[in-house]
Amino acid sequence: MIEGKLRTPEAVRDAERWTAHNYHPLPVVISSAEGAWLTDVDGRRYLDCLAGYSALNFGHRHPALIRAAHNQLDKLTLTSRAFVHDQFADFCRELAQLCGKDLVLPMNTGAEAVETGIKVARKWGYQVKGVTPGQANIVVAEGNFHGRTTTIVSFSTDEDARADFGPYTPGFTVVPYGDLAALTDAIDENTVAVLLEPIQGEQGVVVPPEGYLPGVRRVCTERNVLFIADEIQSGLGRTGATFACQQEGVVPDMYLLGKALGGGIVPVSAVAADAGVLGVLKPGQHGSTFGGNPLACAVATEVVRLLATGEFQRRSAELGARLHAGIQSLVGKGLLAVRGRGLWAGLDIDPALMSGREAGERLMKRGVLAKDTHGSTIRLAPPLVITADEIDYAVAQLAGVLAG
Ligand SMILES: *Cc1c(COP(=O)(O)O)cnc(C)c1O
Repeated sequence: MIEGKLRTPEAVRDAERWTAHNYHPLPVVISSAEGAWLTDVDGRRYLDCLAGYSALNFGHRHPALIRAAHNQLDKLTLTSRAFVHDQFADFCRELAQLCGKDLVLPMNTGAEAVETGIKVARKWGYQVKGVTPGQANIVVAEGNFHGRTTTIVSFSTDEDARADFGPYTPGFTVVPYGDLAALTDAIDENTVAVLLEPIQGEQGVVVPPEGYLPGVRRVCTERNVLFIADEIQSGLGRTGATFACQQEGVVPDMYLLGKALGGGIVPVSAVAADAGVLGVLKPGQHGSTFGGNPLACAVATEVVRLLATGEFQRRSAELGARLHAGIQSLVGKGLLAVRGRGLWAGLDIDPALMSGREAGERLMKRGVLAKDTHGSTIRLAPPLVITADEIDYAVAQLAGVLAG
């Protein structure tokens, strides 16, 4: 191909010209996709090993999800919650059943689900637990990522995410991730919740030590504190189970869900909890114009049905084993360490070799799209529809990049 005729460079420049620079995307311009594969404006194909940060667990344009969206587009797209619509009940019931909880509260983005969880936990604290008015606190972990709102970045430990966005929302205590003793010490009589990711995705797919999550569960029960699991990235099949908590035998009091719940088509998030918790909300106390809209419910109900078959969780577990065997074989050959579970992996590249960004660029040239996080870490999170051959392809390209 002749460089001058490629559409990509100009399309990248155009995209940068008119937008705030709050992202630093790889210089690739995608125009179509199917399953695990993306095609750019110059017709080049790439294996998607990011899957929209797990928003695309079922791949691009999964036929059942596209069908559900098309059908709903032809009937009804938005009512607001001022009226009930006919897609609402099925979605809420089926998601509640998938979560094993009494109730769900649908929102749109992950950050809204987290904000909802925080608000519900505080109200529960005052009304049910009897916390001193205005004194509720929530224990969170270092290295957390829960979204981008002013309250959520208030307890981020990532300076890029937090600096110069103050004044910050009080009421959060940060403890080291994976340290049960520190978490236990941080709980006092005004603690209403512990908010954790069962695996920290943005931090580089950090898996806590064995026994940590069951320990958190035990302490939360003993101290009458809600355990809120942010499964927005770890949940819905990514780790080889419906929820990452399940693999530790843990049932949190509240699930926060998002990303894959929208099937890669619309933003859908939700909070799932029992009536003793979510029941604290009364009309007028919380809401969202778009939350639980008919299009979102139609797509997300289909997502829940795909998950109810167990097929994607099984794929993630089986193919995840293949992925982890592949990347494990590269430790000592350019990789310092690998972590993860299911089709989810964090890879620490030897910083003497290259940065994560550079690895991402080199992978792109070899037809694999992945994203760096924190210096020299690369995160792999391919769609769960990826095949064994495609995993081998991704690992081979990674080996090629590391070999120089
Ligand atoms: C992505 C993410 C969020 C925020 O979701 P948005 O839809 O981007 O607001 C919250 N928590 C976790 C664990 C996430 O990965």
